[in-house]
Order: sequence, then C-alpha cells, then structure tokens
Amino acid sequence: MLMTLGLASTGPAIAQVQVPSQSQNQQAALPRVAVLATGGTIAGTASSETQTTGYTSGVLTADALLKSVPSLGKVAEVSGEQVSNVGSENITNEILLRLAKRVNQLLAQPDIAGVVITHGTDTLEETAYFLNLVVKSDKPVVVTGSMRPSTAISADGPGNILQAVTVAASPDARGRGVMVVLNDRIGSARYTTKTNANTLDTFKSADDGYIGTLIDQVPHFETAVTKLQTTRTPFDVSKLDSLPEVDIVYGHQNDGGYLYDAAVAHGARGIVVAGVGAGSESLLALPSIKKAVDKGVIVVRSSRTGSGYVPEDPAYLGLLGDNLNPQKARILLMLALTITSNPARVQDMFHRF
Ligand code: ASP
Repeated sequence: MLMTLGLASTGPAIAQVQVPSQSQNQQAALPRVAVLATGGTIAGTASSETQTTGYTSGVLTADALLKSVPSLGKVAEVSGEQVSNVGSENITNEILLRLAKRVNQLLAQPDIAGVVITHGTDTLEETAYFLNLVVKSDKPVVVTGSMRPSTAISADGPGNILQAVTVAASPDARGRGVMVVLNDRIGSARYTTKTNANTLDTFKSADDGYIGTLIDQVPHFETAVTKLQTTRTPFDVSKLDSLPEVDIVYGHQNDGGYLYDAAVAHGARGIVVAGVGAGSESLLALPSIKKAVDKGVIVVRSSRTGSGYVPEDPAYLGLLGDNLNPQKARILLMLALTITSNPARVQDMFHRF
C-alpha cells in the first residue's frame, strides 16, 4: 500500500506523489487522515541545530513533513497537500477561506476519517477558531504546529504531527469541535491561545478549554465544550470569496480615538476593542468609538488580559465579546457580518459561539 503525499504548491491545484508506507494488510485497516500544510516553523529550517529564532518559516513541503514521521504509517493512511507555505503572520482571509473549503470537501468524502492542518503557531488559534465555526462535519479536525524549526536538535514538529494525526484518526475525537494539539495537550479551538513567544509549552487553554491529553500516544478526552461549534453554527463559507474587514484596536493609557477613525475611514465594518481589564475604553477614545457605532460599524469589546469575560457596563460602547480574546473575537465578528449587521443578532452569536 502507498502513502499519498502532495507536492509543494501555493495554489489550490494539488499534485500528488506516492511513497511506500506500511504493509498491505496493516494499511487496509487504518483510518485515512488528510494533512493540509500551510507553512510555519514546523516547516522551517535554520542554519544550525541550536538556532530556534531568526530562521526561515515555511520551507519544507507537506511531502517532507510527513516523511519526517515514519511511524505515521502505523497510525493512519496519510495523504498530504500544500495549501500555502507561509509564516502564519502571512495567513490571509483568502488562505483561510481556501483552507476551510478544502477541509469541508475532504470531510465530505466517506473514506476520510479526519483532517490535520499544520500551521505556524503565531496565528494558529485564529485559523483553528475560524475552522471551528465553519467546518460542516463532526469528523475530527486538528490544528498543530511547532515552536522549534525542523532542523533543531529537539524539534517538536514530528512529535506534534504524530499526536495530531493520532487524534484525527481517533473515533473518540468525533464531535468535539476543532482541536489544537501540541505538546501532549488536546485543546479546544474556542479557548486555546498562544501565551509565550518562545517556549514549547506556549499553548494554554484558559477557562477549562483543555479537552484532553495524549499519554503514550493515546488520546484521553476529559471535558466537553458547551459553546456551539462546527455543524451547530450557521456559517457557510462555500460561496464566500472574501470576508468583511474587521480591525482590532488595542487599548492603553492615553488612548486617543484616531485609530478608530482610521479603521472606519479604511472601510472597516467591524472593530474589536482590545480593551483594558474587562473591556474598558478610555474617555479620550469614546467620541471616536461613538462615531463608528453611529455609522453602523459593529464594535465589540474584548479584553487585552488574555482571559475572562467582558461584562455589561453603561460607561462603555459596543457589544460584549464574551470571553473571546481580541483575535478570536475578530474571527467571529467577520463571520457574523457575513450573515447580519443587526447588533442584537451579532451579540447573540457572541454568547453562543
Ligand atoms: N512565525 C512562525 C509562524 O507563526 C512561528 C511558528 O510557527 O512557531 O509561522
């Protein structure tokens, strides 16, 4: 039996190559998992095995990534495709939409058990939450990455790929929404966030977002997420070619209003306030926020602290971002605006998703 791997490509066309995998008998019983590569450190190379900063992201192809984990062939029949090969700071709305459409196409195939996405860690949580809202299947979707490039002496990419494919191939992982798997942890895309710029244990799930752990390569699931995900959301990317502009404005001392004015002038249909504390806005910025709201721009308050809820407060303007961090609130607001600009309906989505 052969393992099917995709050739490097930055566009939607996918070329396939085949490399030998496990024996016929063993392979026949294994679930099929599609791996979609988007770039990032996991596909990065450095000039020495100790260099873990300043390297080049998005160099290795899907083909090379999968070949770096020979034991994958014991877990699943794996096929690889290249969706993009960029550092995740360069993931655009166009790439997000292309990726989501491809994930949905693959999951609609009866022979596919689950999908893994390899991704740069910097914005991994944004892609994971986007997929959590637009994937239309209960089959497992797992996003993974690495903090160290492939050339590092202690590269974490191969282990994370093996764990991600193991979870995607697991029948127990069905119906749990999109998951983020790195460093032995299985986190919910709704809650998982990057918390440290450098260390391996950077991904944390605030507010009980860890849903499981891998021990000896076996996934153990514990908690279930109650926010609505995947098949239980109304978002449909199948006919979308673009997403509405939503900007994030970061609150701080002496925060004036001109960045809100600039966002509105640029055409933003939504603005997420990364407010101080529980989403507080400065008196200096409020006149500009009011101008934005009066123009019909949907403003959502979130917290720059990284966790916790934003409460109702008549002193401030905007909808409540629930406990979504600013970057995840932006993802939900973009999708909400593809359906409605009615503030009450958007607010309802922030409480449910
Ligand atoms: N800059 C990289 C990226 O997000 C960092 C990483 O993957 O860890 O693509």
